[in-house]
Amino acid sequence: MSTDAPASRPLPARIADGLARIATAMRADEWQAAEVGGLTPTQLHVLRFVAGRDPVAMRVKEIAADLGVTQPTATDAISALERKGHVRRAASQADRRAVGVTITESGLALLHRTYDAPGATVAAVAGLDRAEQERLLLSLVKVIRNLQETGAIPIQRMCATCRHFRPHVHDDAATPHHCAFVDAAFGPRDLRVDCREHETADPAARAATWTAFVNG
Ligand code: SF4
Repeated sequence: MSTDAPASRPLPARIADGLARIATAMRADEWQAAEVGGLTPTQLHVLRFVAGRDPVAMRVKEIAADLGVTQPTATDAISALERKGHVRRAASQADRRAVGVTITESGLALLHRTYDAPGATVAAVAGLDRAEQERLLLSLVKVIRNLQETGAIPIQRMCATCRHFRPHVHDDAATPHHCAFVDAAFGPRDLRVDCREHETADPAARAATWTAFVNG
């Protein structure tokens, strides 16, 4: 009888397989949260996206890019939300010829109701201990950053790509990083992956910040 280990896919591929399993649970969570407000997951995603940028009006092109869908698909979701009174379209302050989308009071109230259904994925992550959660967050930041830098997803909203991020500038091991926007120190577990105050650093600054971040 052979004692060889069974042939298996390379580790990165098996990790991707694991992430796909988690994505399945997350899609179920999304459906559950969306049903709370009588929305589809795409409509809920649009609502979260525009709420995170409020009061800045988001263009259809930006919404579609964040969702990873075509502009007609994003437009359908926006139109449905508009009919339900959860978003409104208005001329952009930056460009009066462009139309942007903002969330309404009704949309905000609905969004807060969906927060009452955090879902199975959040519960599963909460089952990890504090150190495991921090390591997982750091690994996710690195994977997301790689996807962003290769153009697979848009660069946005993470400390690692933000012009206000100052990694490892404090001696305190619990809070080594600094956010120049709020002028405060923070620690690894407070790294943001969806910060509304994020402003994308230029490529040279992003590269330098990343080197400082990963090298400690
Ligand atoms: S503004 Fe937000 S994304 Fe930027 S460093 Fe501060 S917390 Fe991080």
